[in-house]
Amino acid sequence: MFEGLLPLTPFVPFFAWLLFFAGGRQKQCPHCRTQLPRFVNPVHKTWKQWVEGGSRCSRCGTPTDASGASIEETAHPQRRSIVAGATALVIAALPAFVMLAHLLKP
Ligand SMILES: [Zn+2]
Repeated sequence: MFEGLLPLTPFVPFFAWLLFFAGGRQKQCPHCRTQLPRFVNPVHKTWKQWVEGGSRCSRCGTPTDASGASIEETAHPQRRSIVAGATALVIAALPAFVMLAHLLKP
């Protein structure tokens, strides 16, 4: 009955990881103690927030990193975050390439 879903099993750990992180506790703004929003307009994110995560206070506009600490508007991501992101992308793309190769097999 669910044989068609079998090719999706490599993605199960990814979605489990996504759910785990989406369910984390909400942080407070380091300046005005307002709860930081879970989702920030991508246009208003800094380069560091794009790579490492983080939020922006909806009340005073203070940008924060993923741990909820205040960061500079021009803060750069750490090198290890960029390496970790690229590694995660490769790990996510590998099953896709395996399935694509399987589909395109003559
Ligand atoms: Zn604030």
